[in-house]
Amino acid sequence: MTARPGRFTARTVRVKAPGKVNVSLDVGPLRPDGYHSVASVYLAVSLYEEVAATSTETPGITISLSPDSTVDLDSVDIPLDGNNLAHKAAAIMADVSEHSTGVHLEITKRVPVAGGMGGGSADAAATLLACDALWNSGLSREELAHLAAELGADVPFSLLGGTAVGLGLGDKLSPALVKAQTHWVLVTADYGLSTPEVYRTLDRLREAEGVEADEPTGVDPEILTALRSGDAEALSRVLVNDLQRAAIKLSPSLRDTLGIGEAHGAIAGIVSGSGPTVALLADDSVAAEGLAEELRRRGLSALAVHGPVPGARIMSDTLI
Ligand code: ATP
Repeated sequence: MTARPGRFTARTVRVKAPGKVNVSLDVGPLRPDGYHSVASVYLAVSLYEEVAATSTETPGITISLSPDSTVDLDSVDIPLDGNNLAHKAAAIMADVSEHSTGVHLEITKRVPVAGGMGGGSADAAATLLACDALWNSGLSREELAHLAAELGADVPFSLLGGTAVGLGLGDKLSPALVKAQTHWVLVTADYGLSTPEVYRTLDRLREAEGVEADEPTGVDPEILTALRSGDAEALSRVLVNDLQRAAIKLSPSLRDTLGIGEAHGAIAGIVSGSGPTVALLADDSVAAEGLAEELRRRGLSALAVHGPVPGARIMSDTLI
């Protein structure tokens, strides 16, 4: 790759990063710092965000959303300023890179917004990797993971991908070796749920019940065993999400979505993270495609995906 001398040459690095499903999510009690410790098994699934980072002669960070997005951009509220997680990621990278330039980020949104699948986190992970390449920062994957954790609890996982156990705020990750694929149908909602609101609702439910949650220490080993063997039936028996009842409290129709899924062939269903996306587990890829089609016929927005898939990856790097 050669740049023409004496003239600014723009370069575009395009990165894709996956959304996630929490196959298990144990939530501890409210901590004095306002956060909750969790123990979770993260699974990266085949629904990707894309970020194209283009160097600009003018300094600063700008953002646009690609018309190729499959998310209905008119019905969601995505900040394009410094509140966008991708903007924050580019700003952090500019701070640590000696040769940063201005940058324009074009984001292709495919992961439902405020859907509990870490879409904004995937944008941040993709932006970290894209700016690292664009500005030849030379950071190691560990250094990038450290910056990712500063941006949000789910950002390190989107960088890593695959399957991982997350402790602490979900950012202390241990990758798990899982080669087998599991197949899921994601039922997305046309509204979002605020993650902090879902956590607050869980705290209130526990308080009303007089339940003192334990600090989570680890995950049920059966979950990883089931994922490793790709045994959907075994996995269906151990899916757990402490946030599910709080998400259902805020959005009772999620219970119907889970019921419809199970009535039409899903082995089990779970609210993904803080919801409202529902992840339905299927026997195999054919069953997942069939179930997604049946649910679409019934007016739901359903998509068959599989996992684990790799974390953030560079797709192209071009001079323009
Ligand atoms: P998580 O499960 O990590 O909490 P989520 O998938 O439920 O995330 P996101 O789609 O990541 O939710 O975004 C939640 C909110 O964050 C949005 O409603 C939006 O206001 C804000 N936000 C900031 N940056 C982004 C981004 N790049 N994409 C989407 N939303 C963003």
